[in-house]
Amino acid sequence: MIQAKAVISNGQGKFELTTINVGKPGPGEVRVKIKASGICHTDWDSIQNWNKNFIVGHEGAGVVESIGENVSGLAIGDKVILNWAIPCGECFQCREGNLHICEQNSPVCGCGLSGHAHIESSTHNEDPIERSFHLGTMCEYAVVKSEAVVKIDSAISYAAASIIGCGVMTGWGSVVNAANVTVGSSVCVIGCGGVGLNVIQAAKQSGAAKIIAIDINEERLEQAKKFGATQGVVASKTDIDFVDVKAKVRELTDGRGADYAFECTAIPALGSAPLALIRSAGKAVQVSGIEQRIDFDCELFEWDKIYINPLYGMCNPERDFNRILSLYNNGDMKLEELVTKTYTLETLSEGLDDMLNGRIAKGVVIIDSSAEN
Ligand SMILES: [Zn+2]
Ligand SMILES: [Zn+2]
Repeated sequence: MIQAKAVISNGQGKFELTTINVGKPGPGEVRVKIKASGICHTDWDSIQNWNKNFIVGHEGAGVVESIGENVSGLAIGDKVILNWAIPCGECFQCREGNLHICEQNSPVCGCGLSGHAHIESSTHNEDPIERSFHLGTMCEYAVVKSEAVVKIDSAISYAAASIIGCGVMTGWGSVVNAANVTVGSSVCVIGCGGVGLNVIQAAKQSGAAKIIAIDINEERLEQAKKFGATQGVVASKTDIDFVDVKAKVRELTDGRGADYAFECTAIPALGSAPLALIRSAGKAVQVSGIEQRIDFDCELFEWDKIYINPLYGMCNPERDFNRILSLYNNGDMKLEELVTKTYTLETLSEGLDDMLNGRIAKGVVIIDSSAEN
């Protein structure tokens, strides 16, 4: 048992920094010393809505500190990225290759919390405390299933590594795994925050010839160009049907519409917007996970358009994290640049506020800045 600082929420809008006890890893589990944890809109959502006590955070990187029985392929001291969609490797969807929607472990079947053996290993005031997405990365130590970590071999900072396992993967994988963007194609990206910037850099890596960034904020469009956008279109908050944006995109795509459009805003009213921007038989991708009911004009699907809603960039963690790091190691993927600002466990509320007000691409909580590993 070790003591660890942790951010705990009641899932009703409140959170506090406190000290918890973290037990030894059980069979099939490892204990990770967390070095950095990304701050995500899902964290904000969980703090507001989950309505139970839990350790906050689901994007993390750190070092394997101890290992339970029956764990292979990991050693103490390994540098790892945590992964919140933990594949069992045995169920129908895992066998189909859809590791991100594993039927046994997927957080999308509920609210991100469900019965797992290791939940008992962390206690707060003697009571077992659950971990967000079975990870709870805003804590100095996390006991997790060994399948929830991917060992990495890269000089990348822990701050930049921590965001691979959510925002980076979601944007990048939506392009590479879900839409399969082709060489020479045209791509629209609606919303140029942390996820949108990863859509843009993945489209560039895929050889897209035109990458049209769309945002209400001109500064964000300038930043998008640094990540590979070839054109920028300023959207107006009042043009919710995207009449002006659609006209500009048509102009830029020989009057036809783009081959692909990605929605990365999490604004429900924009759920149908990518359909308005693509050509017939183009692909519209809803990246941000909108779940609300909205009105859809079925004409938007004309003709032969495809609308997909991939989860987590259809992540295969071992394969994809290593691909992303290869691109990073070769200088073809900007990851350090995505981390606009860092915080501590004590200043998490400042980070959440910066995120909610669009002041940062991605904020990261540095939990342990010592140089070991
Ligand atoms: Zn996230
Ligand atoms: Zn499975």
